[in-house]
Amino acid sequence: MTAHFPRTRREVREGLIPSHALLERAGFIRQVAAGVYALLPLGWRVHQRICQIIFAEMERGGVQNVQLPILQPESLWQQSGRWAKYVQSGTMFVTTEQQSRQPYGLAPTAEEVVTALVAAELSGWRELPLHLHQIGPKFRDELRPRMGLLRGREFSMSDAYSFDPDEDGMRASFDMYRGIYRRIFEAVGLRSCIAVQADSGAIGGQGSSEFMAVCDVGEDELLTCDHCDYGANMERAASRYTRPSYSDERRTIRWVPTPGIRTVEELERHFADQGITAQHMVKTIICTVNPKGNDPYDIAVCIRGDLGINLVKVRNALGADEVVPALDPVVREVTGAEVGFAGPIGQRNVRILFDQSVCGMSNFLCGYNTTDHHALDVNFGGELPEPEHYYDLHNAAEGHGCPNCDEGRLGISRGIEVGHIFMLQQGYARALDVSFLDQSGEAQVPWMGCYGIGTTRLMQAIVEQNRDGQGICWPEAVAPYQAHILTANHEADVQRELADRLYEQLSARGIDVLYDDRGESAGVKFADADLIGCPRRITVGRLAAEGKVELRLRHTGEQQEFTCEEVLQLLSSIPTSC
Ligand code: ATP
Ligand code: MG
Repeated sequence: MTAHFPRTRREVREGLIPSHALLERAGFIRQVAAGVYALLPLGWRVHQRICQIIFAEMERGGVQNVQLPILQPESLWQQSGRWAKYVQSGTMFVTTEQQSRQPYGLAPTAEEVVTALVAAELSGWRELPLHLHQIGPKFRDELRPRMGLLRGREFSMSDAYSFDPDEDGMRASFDMYRGIYRRIFEAVGLRSCIAVQADSGAIGGQGSSEFMAVCDVGEDELLTCDHCDYGANMERAASRYTRPSYSDERRTIRWVPTPGIRTVEELERHFADQGITAQHMVKTIICTVNPKGNDPYDIAVCIRGDLGINLVKVRNALGADEVVPALDPVVREVTGAEVGFAGPIGQRNVRILFDQSVCGMSNFLCGYNTTDHHALDVNFGGELPEPEHYYDLHNAAEGHGCPNCDEGRLGISRGIEVGHIFMLQQGYARALDVSFLDQSGEAQVPWMGCYGIGTTRLMQAIVEQNRDGQGICWPEAVAPYQAHILTANHEADVQRELADRLYEQLSARGIDVLYDDRGESAGVKFADADLIGCPRRITVGRLAAEGKVELRLRHTGEQQEFTCEEVLQLLSSIPTSC
């Protein structure tokens, strides 16, 4: 510890989530710029151990390792059609080569590079399946980097890519990685990690699962069934919701003044005496599609009043890059009315998407693009033509029925996305001209998958799930050191000599030990040991004269006296590698 860089800190800036604050205080990481972090010696050790576990599991699955470049030529991303998408969304860091003025992107991911490499080498079916993996830096110009390593602009990712001769092969590879990922997340010491169905986002393809470290600070909302194993990200989750029995009698439309009454809640209160609830309302939300693209346009989405709109589902229904709620001036322009009075009736400026919840409703309330007014007893077929299509655009909510089984109810929890596996199908392979000759000599396009783990994000997720009021409690498999030796009084010759000897003997047996050889008080040393969080603390104190030390386990707080020989024996039985 006298040589160790840096010293621990008592205080860090306010407002950090626990895992971030602990990693900073204990000196594992330091922020260099927004979303850009340095791994310091302790952090580097933990990250290395995580990577070793990943490499070992990958190799067991027959995955080969590569190191792909960070500088990726624009031309490759033009071929896949993703350059504009990544540049316009502001995700890609772009740099330019000085002589040729050729643009390059800094690797946000590596589908293009790896697919192009395989395109140049692959010839026949015997070379498949092929699995390539790397762990390397990734760059994404995140709009809001936050929570330390959880969302950085520069971070480290384990990314693997599979190439199979057919769809069945792709599915088998996907299942193989699902197994590998489960083992990795268990091995690194996550306490609760679940796989959920996910949206595929900018990576594309169809069919993907996310691995979520369940904890309160997670940015993702997850829905899980209390009866079966259904789990899905909110972005993707389906659900069953109850429908009131709408009356068959079709009443005549009425236009009523609703001065300053805009929200569903306000309308419910206003019409309480008429028994009009949110389930008898159709709300209309104006959205802007591809706001950062070259041709942004607006749409309206209609949904039952008590349900929330899922903008990721809207985006997918339109095949768009991004859908956001329209800004107030846009809403005024589209509806010709103040915000809060949008409706499907007489809306000719924009396309309207109707959610399935609206299908079958009768005599409902909705806006009609007139300030301070709403329409009552609206029915499809009258002023409002029956929609040609209904889409699933609603947000699943706590208490909704499970879409996978009849009995279950959905509950919400939060999670940190530590891994994401995708079935990419053939899109990238086609775009980058990959082909191989099958058994009958015909040219075929391989089926791909891609698989990513944020290794730096994972490091912090492990801390989020393994800590207490005193500091971090590293799981054995990824701890920076297996044991932390300290002298209660370093001035006392007996203690110092015994500790020196124990440190040397443990080190000689290949056990990683951190030795607090500072002249600090025992209290300061105990606090630092708890903060740093190695699984075992060995205190060399008054009992040193009898050749005894005290061994304390960080996770449980259990402690016991042992002779040095016993400690040597105990620690020698810890598995030192994965
Ligand atoms: P998110 O939804 O959190 O932005 P993503 O869907 O963009 O993640 P992928 O493209 O699937 O992420 O990347 C694979 C993995 O890389 C993620 O599961 C996550 O663990 C990690 N990752 C992604 N973005 C970041 C980031 N900004 N900082 C740290 N890790 C990240
Ligand atoms: Mg992202």
